[in-house]
Amino acid sequence: MSEIVNQSENQGSQSDLAAIAQPRPDRFFIKTFGCQMNVADSERMSVLLAEQGLTPADEVEDAQVIIINGCTVREKAVHKALSTLGRLREMKNRKQQRPIIGIGGCVGQLDRENLFKRVPGLDFVFGTDTIDNLPEIIHRVRSGEKHVVYADFDASMNYSTETKVFGFKAQAFVNIMKGCDKYCTYCIVPFTRGKEKSRTIDEVVDDVARLVATGVREVTFLGQNVNSFGKGNPNVKNRQPLELHNVIGKVGPRAGEENFPQLLRAIDTDPRCQDLKRIRFTSSHPLDFSDELIECYAPASQGGVARLSPHLHLPVQSGSNRVLQKMGRHHQIEAYFSQMARLRELCPDVGLSTDLIVGFPSETEEDFQDTLRLLDRVQFDHIYAFAYSPRPGTRAAKLQDDVPDQVKNERLNHLLNYQQGISEKLYASRIDSVMEVLVEGEAKNQKMAQTSTLTGRVWTGKTPCNRVVNFISDSPRSLVGQLVSVKVSHSTGFSLQGDVVVGDLQ
Ligand code: SF4
Repeated sequence: MSEIVNQSENQGSQSDLAAIAQPRPDRFFIKTFGCQMNVADSERMSVLLAEQGLTPADEVEDAQVIIINGCTVREKAVHKALSTLGRLREMKNRKQQRPIIGIGGCVGQLDRENLFKRVPGLDFVFGTDTIDNLPEIIHRVRSGEKHVVYADFDASMNYSTETKVFGFKAQAFVNIMKGCDKYCTYCIVPFTRGKEKSRTIDEVVDDVARLVATGVREVTFLGQNVNSFGKGNPNVKNRQPLELHNVIGKVGPRAGEENFPQLLRAIDTDPRCQDLKRIRFTSSHPLDFSDELIECYAPASQGGVARLSPHLHLPVQSGSNRVLQKMGRHHQIEAYFSQMARLRELCPDVGLSTDLIVGFPSETEEDFQDTLRLLDRVQFDHIYAFAYSPRPGTRAAKLQDDVPDQVKNERLNHLLNYQQGISEKLYASRIDSVMEVLVEGEAKNQKMAQTSTLTGRVWTGKTPCNRVVNFISDSPRSLVGQLVSVKVSHSTGFSLQGDVVVGDLQ
């Protein structure tokens, strides 16, 4: 539309006419379901498509290439992805220029060619190990091939990749390992992401150094079990493992293997990474949360890793040893308590979060009470809690799903309300403190600006311990990527509000 208006206004300008004659580049739209691994994978897909000359579309209706990046962790998530594809198919049938539609992620990996039967109109399927084949896949579909499938696992133990970030970002997700060897009884991930394999420390450090040079100030290391990084990697240099003295965790590096604490220390001391402010990581398993890793949280003056944020997401899933055993978690709740106590000793301000499942087969009221006691004892900032539902293809799906839905939902609501009380108290305890905030962008909700005496836009960012902080600034320029100090004046159970006391906001 604007091109036509320009044409009539400028009456014959050669350069504008040339611009008008250019065909508009094709656009892509990616809908992401699931975890941060999928978010990072979608970003990688965006860069790969942009390298082919495609540009992102704001609305799915405007896209010529549409990708669903699906999640299989719960049946509900799979249904969501498939029903989205169903709606897209209707849209495709209505259009004159029909877009090509594909599905990737764990759904593509698991259901492969079966998806063409379930979703007529689908053009391509790819898996978690074949994202980098996307340009080739799109080319083949555009060349007229039907039902293109790229969903084979890479059977080798090699894992090498370079992080791709779409546009300027102060934060980046960096995959350092992938896959999972834990096989918790309820979880499908080991079947969709394959065996654990890791990049080398040298490769990750080079990657982070490159990101820092582009302006990245915070990295989040990603993997299904980030803290088992390095295990079984055939490509490592023969590094000397640090002296081991694990008493809580059962595991640590084997001779000649690299491990996660070594990676943290390598980043922290590399001169090219000095402008990096924060390192985070997700997700982890309590079995691999070694003493050596806990010690990385100590103050730098006591041998800790200076850039490691005082924040930890360590999924525990249940407060009952009986349920943990049925879940195949291989850790005991007492060990988890010891890990958290030691961590708080070294880093009193650490912000903690976890994942919990309620209503797992055979969970009794007493088991559930154990989970509530866990919340009291650990004092998480946040929890991510779900009512159990069987995932076909897992061992737990063969157990009798004997906790009635009503009980599951009552327990879930009770758990969430209970945690809300804890979060509100923890957040309120921050009022009047000054916290360092890395600005992520303008807040979606600008209501705070309507009730404040300050004028300007509402910005949002996170503290080192991962708490969300909103503040108002009338700065005319973008604050994304800046570190500001905010004095907290209000709190809810989800976020903090305050005023900037130090920051380069002009
Ligand atoms: S550790 Fe357990 S829950 Fe986490 S990805 Fe592996 S199997 Fe799934």
